[in-house]
Amino acid sequence: MGGHEMRFIEEAFDTNWIAPLGPNVENFEKEVADYVGIDGAVALSSGTAAIHMALKLIGIEPGDLIFCSSLTFAATCNPIVYEGGKPVFIDSEPQNMNMSPKALEKAFKYYQGKGQLPKAVLVVHLYGQVADMDAIEEICNKYQVPIIEDAAEALGATYKGRYAGTMGDYGIFSFNGNKIITTSGGGMLVSRNKEALKKALFWSTQSRDKARHYEHSELGFNYRMSNVLAGIGRGQLLVLKERLEKKKKIFETYQWALAGIEDIEMAKICDYGESNYWLSTMFLKQDSTINVIDIIEALEKENIEARPIWKPMHNQPFFEEYRFFSHNEVGISVSEEAFERGICLPSDTKMTIEEQMRVISIIRNLFAYGM
Ligand SMILES: *Cc1c(COP(=O)(O)O)cnc(C)c1O
Repeated sequence: MGGHEMRFIEEAFDTNWIAPLGPNVENFEKEVADYVGIDGAVALSSGTAAIHMALKLIGIEPGDLIFCSSLTFAATCNPIVYEGGKPVFIDSEPQNMNMSPKALEKAFKYYQGKGQLPKAVLVVHLYGQVADMDAIEEICNKYQVPIIEDAAEALGATYKGRYAGTMGDYGIFSFNGNKIITTSGGGMLVSRNKEALKKALFWSTQSRDKARHYEHSELGFNYRMSNVLAGIGRGQLLVLKERLEKKKKIFETYQWALAGIEDIEMAKICDYGESNYWLSTMFLKQDSTINVIDIIEALEKENIEARPIWKPMHNQPFFEEYRFFSHNEVGISVSEEAFERGICLPSDTKMTIEEQMRVISIIRNLFAYGM
């Protein structure tokens, strides 16, 4: 927590607004929308719920295809399957592991040949870096297919001056406990289309028609964020700027301290925008004698948690049946290779410089580089 949350929570308690309704919810929506510079927002119970609502808004129906980044968390593509849609997984490009415009174009060409275009392209901004949106937009405009941005990990990141989440037809954020700011659990749907947001609000509050009694002409969902949790979010938003700076510093410290180790490459940061540096990630070079698990285990021995990067969705048992389009013409795909060689390093903003130096010295020692 950032120190400002209790003020908003107490306000909710004092005014007895404990429901998924109340001034914190509306203010949080307005404050996030203002921060990223978009017309409107709907606060929901999770980022996953926000993706689900975005898919419903683009009119997903059973059997529809959704082109989706493969290198991501399962929450990105699960809602496609909730609606009976079929994800088509798109590989990463090598510069920052986000959706490859080349692989995307391949998928479009293949399915155009079959006379079946996707209902939407669901693009993820991985670990806080924005995908190459100009290239992706150009392809989507050509085929007239809407874009949904999964900016769950990228609140505050920018691309050529535009904020993550504001470039597509719909954008989503997550306020899960591990994200750059949190409401303990929560999410948000943002869009320029205010009519669509009204519809999402209707669906996410059980689709209650205007009537004195309970009347329902559509299927509903219980997806609204509560006023208490929105209070946490409002407090957190006040420290977002500070966190962005802290996260960047953490990344730069790793970059500086690991620079001498030949087998290690920190994630490349694209200069077309500003990352929010949600997680500092590094990659081992192909011929490194030390592998990802060696590093994770060495840290684990010291009670420090690190993890491999996301395992691509097209390699997940549950999603294996769906098609995948690789960036490469031959050999292993970019996302599979990233999974084999990538590590998410401890990146919490509470981490002190001493704690980070401990992480660094364990890694340096493993490669027989002292401090
Ligand atoms: C965290 C995350 C989500 C889901 O957010 P929840 O709020 O946990 O439902 C979706 N996509 C990505 C890429 C995420 O990292």
